[in-house]
Amino acid sequence: MKAFFLLPLAGFCLGLLPVTAQTRRPASDTPAKAVTVAQGEVARWAGNCRRCALEKRAWPAVNGTCYYPVDMEMKAGEYTISRRTTGGKLETARLTVTEKPCVQEDIKNFPKKEYVNVSPQNQARAASEGTEVNAVIRYKDEVRPAVFDLPVGKPVNPLPKGEGNFGACRTFDGQPRDRHTGQDYPVGAGKAVLSVGNGRVVLVADHFYSGKAVYIDHGNGLVTEYFHLQSIAVKDDQTVTKGQKIGAVGETGRVTGPHLHFGVRWHGACINPGFLLVDPSDLPQVQ
Ligand SMILES: [Zn+2]
Repeated sequence: MKAFFLLPLAGFCLGLLPVTAQTRRPASDTPAKAVTVAQGEVARWAGNCRRCALEKRAWPAVNGTCYYPVDMEMKAGEYTISRRTTGGKLETARLTVTEKPCVQEDIKNFPKKEYVNVSPQNQARAASEGTEVNAVIRYKDEVRPAVFDLPVGKPVNPLPKGEGNFGACRTFDGQPRDRHTGQDYPVGAGKAVLSVGNGRVVLVADHFYSGKAVYIDHGNGLVTEYFHLQSIAVKDDQTVTKGQKIGAVGETGRVTGPHLHFGVRWHGACINPGFLLVDPSDLPQVQ
């Protein structure tokens, strides 16, 4: 019986090999168009786009432009992107992802000790909350139409310079933790937090790590995250408009003091929010 099952398995594994080989194109077959971005950035292909694809993932263009968000942990290397034009033409380009080393943040004497030595109960709580969040932020084959515009609005106004800690590799009292998924902004408690675009509230939560948190879906697979709030002014499923107050800055969850944590997921990729706050024509272009 064992041999009977081993044969199909071997066939399956062998069947995978040509797919891997295809990703390494010979030089003569290299697409003429190309773009290079670092981990956590967004590439752009402007003009007459209808649909966009990065390897096996695909999504609609936004106002005729394709955006290719690159997760901060996407392996550095070469990938194929493509676009279907409004005229029906399929074009491909090479996407080179370069490594962006993470900033090291060592947080010592963290005051909330429950976050340094996390109890089994809190580990279980955080795991189940992670599952709840993942359902909202993960890549989806079907997305709602985009209702946002770029650049997005400011999550607080005025917006101070960020802490520069997007993607940071962190330790708490010497213990390594997951990478930092957003940008922290030094803003005092009570300041209004604003939705950066039109959208729909897809999750209102009070989570172990993120504290009081709001997740907004802006269509086209773009989800923004606002953490550590003192209070929340919106409900699940509520429609919000760009600049609408959704809560107030606070210090709930794993924080040393009040600030706004602003995060962005686009087609499941965790990207530096700063790239949505700049003029989109300043993003790396396919050319
Ligand atoms: Zn943060």
